[in-house]
Amino acid sequence: MKASVLKELKTPISVEEVEIPEVSGHDVLIKQKLTGICYRDILTQEGFFPRVSLPIIPGHEISGTIEKVGEQVEDFKPGDRVASLIYTPCGQCEYCKSGNENLCPNKRTFGETVNGGYAQYIKTTDKSLVKVPEGVGDAEASISACVTGMIYNAMKRVGGLVEGENVLISGAGGGVGTHAIQIAKALGAHVIAKTSSPWKAEKLYGLGADLVVTSENFDKEIKQHTGDGVHLALESVGLPTFDKTLRSLRTGGRMVVIGNVDPTPVPLPLGLIILKGNKIMGSISSTREDMKAALQLSAEGKISAMVHRKIKLDDINEAFAEMKGKMSLGRIMIEL
Ligand SMILES: [Zn+2]
Ligand SMILES: [Zn+2]
Repeated sequence: MKASVLKELKTPISVEEVEIPEVSGHDVLIKQKLTGICYRDILTQEGFFPRVSLPIIPGHEISGTIEKVGEQVEDFKPGDRVASLIYTPCGQCEYCKSGNENLCPNKRTFGETVNGGYAQYIKTTDKSLVKVPEGVGDAEASISACVTGMIYNAMKRVGGLVEGENVLISGAGGGVGTHAIQIAKALGAHVIAKTSSPWKAEKLYGLGADLVVTSENFDKEIKQHTGDGVHLALESVGLPTFDKTLRSLRTGGRMVVIGNVDPTPVPLPLGLIILKGNKIMGSISSTREDMKAALQLSAEGKISAMVHRKIKLDDINEAFAEMKGKMSLGRIMIEL
């Protein structure tokens, strides 16, 4: 089969013929039609993650139809349409046993420590898979772990979003933000979207935002709009927006911090956090339950994947360059 292979960090990805993986035990071989390119794949190529096993097939936004299963697989069979977590959990530790496999210290991440999704066939395991319900498109299945399931984990499981609450989404014009608006809306929130790109406002209203804020001091605008501030904020930008996001919270408000664009440490105004009884929480990736919930929202037509364009495997390096230049307005996906 044809696959993209990263042989050395900080070098272009090569496209070559590799063997279709063999399966045994709990392994499952999936045939993919479409897989997403994530900014994390670019960070992997650039050497941001220290434990990458080279050479490796990058990519972790995996879905498709089961081709073969190992002899110990019971819950899945060839022909099932499935989507995969971005990692394989161990299934044995306290986190895995309590349904928090996203926190598993022994997990192995596709595209980093085991071969990933930039190939027509991928070997995963039954511990990573969920079935894809009727009516879900290939793009929506592919992003159900890394994007929509991850957002569901942050907003619902960690953030405790309740219908009718005011939710602020920073970085709303980006890949996470545009899906977060749809999910917050689907969960019955009043959605406030913050973007530093005013030309995106119309699109964000179209996705379901009730208010789009664009100024640097957006906390003031939000206080005017809501009275006290928001119940929940999803902060995915980091230093450029952290302080104003915190100041947009109402008394007792919660902030969930997810995969940020700018890893620079942020100052924490402790007095403000104490006086207002605010909570700041982290959220990482998704569990299978989050994926199921996100896929269900897709099946009901409440959320759809923001796809910028589809490419062939041979064009992977051009796609990376386009994403680094931040010229793409949605996900670039590889057709396999
Ligand atoms: Zn991803
Ligand atoms: Zn585990």
